[in-house]
Amino acid sequence: MTRSLLRRSLVGAVTAALLAAPAVVPSAAAVRDSAAPGVGSPSGGDPYFPKDGNGGYDVRHYAIKNTYRPGNGNLSGRTVVHAVASRDLRAFHLDLALDADAVLVDGRKAKFRKPDQHTLRVRPLRPLDAGQRFQVEVRYHGNPSKTRVPGYGSPFFQERGEGLAMGEPQIGPWWFAANETPADKATYRIAIRVPRGREAISNGELVGRRTTKAWTTWRWRMKDPMTTYAAFFSAGELALRSGKDRGRPYVYAVTKQLRPKARQRWFKQLKRTGEVTRWLESEFGDYPFTSIGGVAPGVDADFALETQSRPVYPVGWGVADISLLVHEMAHQWFGDSVALRRWRDIWLNEGFATYAEWRWSETHGGPSTDRWLRATYGAYPARAKYWRTRIGAPGARHIFAWAVYERGAMTLAALRNVIGDADLSTLLRRWAQDNAHGNVTGRQFRQLAEEISGEELDGFFEEWLDDRDKPANTAANGLG
Ligand SMILES: [Zn+2]
Repeated sequence: MTRSLLRRSLVGAVTAALLAAPAVVPSAAAVRDSAAPGVGSPSGGDPYFPKDGNGGYDVRHYAIKNTYRPGNGNLSGRTVVHAVASRDLRAFHLDLALDADAVLVDGRKAKFRKPDQHTLRVRPLRPLDAGQRFQVEVRYHGNPSKTRVPGYGSPFFQERGEGLAMGEPQIGPWWFAANETPADKATYRIAIRVPRGREAISNGELVGRRTTKAWTTWRWRMKDPMTTYAAFFSAGELALRSGKDRGRPYVYAVTKQLRPKARQRWFKQLKRTGEVTRWLESEFGDYPFTSIGGVAPGVDADFALETQSRPVYPVGWGVADISLLVHEMAHQWFGDSVALRRWRDIWLNEGFATYAEWRWSETHGGPSTDRWLRATYGAYPARAKYWRTRIGAPGARHIFAWAVYERGAMTLAALRNVIGDADLSTLLRRWAQDNAHGNVTGRQFRQLAEEISGEELDGFFEEWLDDRDKPANTAANGLG
């Protein structure tokens, strides 16, 4: 994710909602419930966002079929969740902010209720056995941008005849029935039906488009595992360009609310995604997905997001500059393919994407990563609040603090000074390739850094990631 560089202190709608109220911990009743035998937990277990995600099963695939009216923002549809029970289950939970109309488990009507706005509790006719594959079909409806969950508000955008499902860390439950934790990735088929002649863009490949009298259905497929927050759709009147860039399929989309000339400038820039992707491959190894792209919708989102295979950029900032493309595409490796297990390790996403920007600068005639490191280090006096954030565990309210981005990138630039170019390059490639399509922790990264460099780096990482003060200007810290 990238928030406005000019207005860093302003926050996106999601984060604003997060700041407005503390994360809601499941009620005592729900916790007792989860401890009872045979009931899957209503929490994914991440202390930063305990309301998100659920326990007791593992999702393998989502088949989403939605009808969306960008004019008034109403959405209805159904999600078939293909999952495997990880324990015997008499009941389990899904995340769904919309109203539930019906639930079927393996084709049979199941009992369900919503103990709170964010949670759907399902009780199948027959209990599920540990290891059993099952399908849950959830039918729902609502107006996602008006569906406000206490503590979260609504992360969904709907305005000026367009809709946009995009948010981090929350968005899934506003448009499908989800297990909203980055630790449970799945493949997706996403069908969005919109009024005839409108466009609906989502992740991966367009595998079908069908128009009837009143409707056009867009079918997308993401065949590689994806976290719920990296899934998105953008619907409205969008101009589309698709084709192949040196054999790699691409889809670019720009809102028709922009005049043709401005649209043209956007397309010209979005097409540089191909060049950026090839450069990132030269740095970090194979691109993890099968297509690329970029979307510039008309809604007023004040952030860019690394939605999988196809980032979304805010039109309000003007044509995305190249470093923004580098940042969001670098997230395809770091954040999307190599995904977090827990939100506390957010620097593995934002620090790495920011470091990629610095490295792009270095290899394209700009300042080196070391120049960036020293300039950034020098820009903040030791007394600055900037150094009080604990980068390796910033707290739920600070996962998108600017310090996480810059100090995360400084950690990698300083590490490069300590272990050398060759080892840092090997480290980043192996991190991306060995963990492709998986989930990781900060601890694993520290271990791999020590393994590859053969150096003891506990002290180094403590200074940069664990401490709440400015690292000393020493060679051991990659400075000096
Ligand atoms: Zn980012």
